[in-house]
Amino acid sequence: MTKDLDGLTALVTGGASGIGLATATLLAERGARVAVLDLAPETVSEPLVGFTADVGDDASVRAAVQQAAEALGGVDILVNNAGIGAAGTVEDNPDDQWHRVLDVNVLGIVRTTRAALPYLRRSDHASVVNTCSIAATAGLPQRALYSASKGAVLSLTRAMAADHVREGIRVNCVNPGTVDTPWVGRLLDAAEDPEAERAALDARQPHGRLVTAEEVAATVTYLASPAAASVTGTAVAVDGGMASLCLRPS
Ligand code: NAD
Repeated sequence: MTKDLDGLTALVTGGASGIGLATATLLAERGARVAVLDLAPETVSEPLVGFTADVGDDASVRAAVQQAAEALGGVDILVNNAGIGAAGTVEDNPDDQWHRVLDVNVLGIVRTTRAALPYLRRSDHASVVNTCSIAATAGLPQRALYSASKGAVLSLTRAMAADHVREGIRVNCVNPGTVDTPWVGRLLDAAEDPEAERAALDARQPHGRLVTAEEVAATVTYLASPAAASVTGTAVAVDGGMASLCLRPS
């Protein structure tokens, strides 16, 4: 494995599970020193270092970013990945649920980036990667609140990229399709027939299977790496073609 991130440091929010854990693990394999900021960081193991943080709480985020930056010796890469879901149409989610999901999915990125910027400004390879979703651009049924939150993440990514490009800080996002993580596992477990539901979900993907967390991690790691030095303000889909293909039934 190439060690192109040797000497760099990375923070990954929501890095104790799923896409975040796969990303933190790959960044470390590529040579970065990596801290995971998560509600439940106890499960992460060496070489990853865990810090307790709720991205929905400004004081918690500021404390965790500072502790992690001091432990690692700076921040070159910030992966804003923590996020929560919500199902339903605009008739289904009460206001407090809208506030909570927008607070974690959108303001969580604002808080973590704000806390990390003083460290990113000192880096020669500063990069922020946000975990967005195909829900930002495709109209998904029963996902009004989640889609609105990810639409905001896409706009925020571009605005942040514009604000910080002259400072040498790149900002991009990744738009995963349906990814095989504990999150999706929990949704399947709640179905009447999880195996049948899983098979139906696989069949709905253009390439016939769920995306893996490792596939998303590979794209996040590319965007975070010096190889992407001229890539900023962009969104990369990792979705088996879900958002862009219009397939005829075969
Ligand atoms: P996951 O549930 O497996 O992991 C999410 C992690 O985030 C957990 O470790 C959790 O403890 C942490 N977390 C949740 N709220 C937090 C908070 N307030 N502060 C700090 N940490 C918090 O989920 P996943 O499937 O890996 O999803 C990760 C990201 O990917 C989310 O932003 C999600 O919206 C996005 N995403 C997932 C999919 C998918 O199909 N799984 C698709 C598109 C986008």
